[in-house]
Amino acid sequence: MKILVINAGSSSMKYQLIDMTDESILAKGNCERIGIDGHFKHTAGDGRSCEYDVVMNNHTEAFIQIKNALIDEKVGVIKELSEVSAIGHRIVQGGSIFKESVLVTEKVIEDIESLIPLAPLHNAAHVQGIRACIDVFGKDVPEVVVFDTAFHSTMPQTAYMYAVPYEYYEKYAVRRYGFHGTSHRYVSARCAELMGKDIKDLKMITCHLGNGSSITAIDGGKVVDTSMGLTPLDGIMMGTRTGCLDPSVVTFIAEKEGFTPSEMDTLLNKKSGFLGISGVSSDDRDVCAAAEAGNARAQLAIDMLEYHILKYIGAYTAVLGRVDAIVFTAGIGENQSSHRENVCHKLGYLGVEIDDKVNAKAIRGVEGKISTENSKVDVFVIPTNEEIVIARDTMALVNKA
Ligand code: AMP
Repeated sequence: MKILVINAGSSSMKYQLIDMTDESILAKGNCERIGIDGHFKHTAGDGRSCEYDVVMNNHTEAFIQIKNALIDEKVGVIKELSEVSAIGHRIVQGGSIFKESVLVTEKVIEDIESLIPLAPLHNAAHVQGIRACIDVFGKDVPEVVVFDTAFHSTMPQTAYMYAVPYEYYEKYAVRRYGFHGTSHRYVSARCAELMGKDIKDLKMITCHLGNGSSITAIDGGKVVDTSMGLTPLDGIMMGTRTGCLDPSVVTFIAEKEGFTPSEMDTLLNKKSGFLGISGVSSDDRDVCAAAEAGNARAQLAIDMLEYHILKYIGAYTAVLGRVDAIVFTAGIGENQSSHRENVCHKLGYLGVEIDDKVNAKAIRGVEGKISTENSKVDVFVIPTNEEIVIARDTMALVNKA
């Protein structure tokens, strides 16, 4: 069975075609700048590739590019489109409606649309992606939606409620949802596999550290708390997002500067975090290079990030009552060994001990344990793979149907 995995954004659409017999990636690519000018990239599993500018006015036109590339004589990987058995879509916000992946129906699309107020940019783009997909592939190809929020739906109410008047939870569903759920789900399951233990017996803290970052406490395979909230703005400091702060900071700056809610939203989501503190870049690599060259604000940004990670691990250890494993994943978690080293060296009170040499080598796709045999907590670096989770869920639901 060959499954096409789609991650549709408002102006981009990433895809992977996965052969489920061995879970190999047959092809992957990205449609960028949809509705602007348009750029298309496609790479086959064996390295054949193409890249060109092409106007894509909407998601349907983007899907036509994907379709053409998949069956193209030079860079294609299938003979005809009918070889695509099913399509799996990543959806950011499933609200309280979707607690697991589901097959797409008209009602499901309407429900995802109803959640647009909770994730205006993302869910609107996902709906466009699903509808465009139906236009191009036809109604007979089954489609599945996999939600970033679903894995977090096991959180207890004490963890997901905000202490604002209860009516806003009832009226507008204001609560913590959490994001990156598919990634936390993948790495936690993989961590249990690597430990050779049943996930039901494990207490874990998974750290997804990328341009967007979130940390999750998982007890027996079920999320009990996560750092992102109503939106992906909460939690630890990120590339351009603040992470948690005193809400009064928002009203204070807004009043002083005369900013509108939308201007404040831009400030908190796009101008803060690494970029806002360092003034150098939102990218961890640039900030680390600047710090290395003596830039004090870049060093401050790094120190703050590591401090935030440390605080969440401490808080979630308290929530779990014990921690058996800590996992680092995503761009920063998988590649930036110095952050892992600095954080783990401060976790001695938990009995964490990492092998600095092994840690330094665990970069660029390396998976493995970085803690020593003496460590009371196993620490892993596990490259995330959200696409494979989407493909597996898609296959399971299609086979069941
Ligand atoms: P993501 O959002 O998961 O793609 O992660 C993006 C972040 O990961 C950026 O801050 C990058 O600086 C960082 N990152 C990605 N690749 C590397 C690498 N090879 N070495 C160090 N940091 C990396």
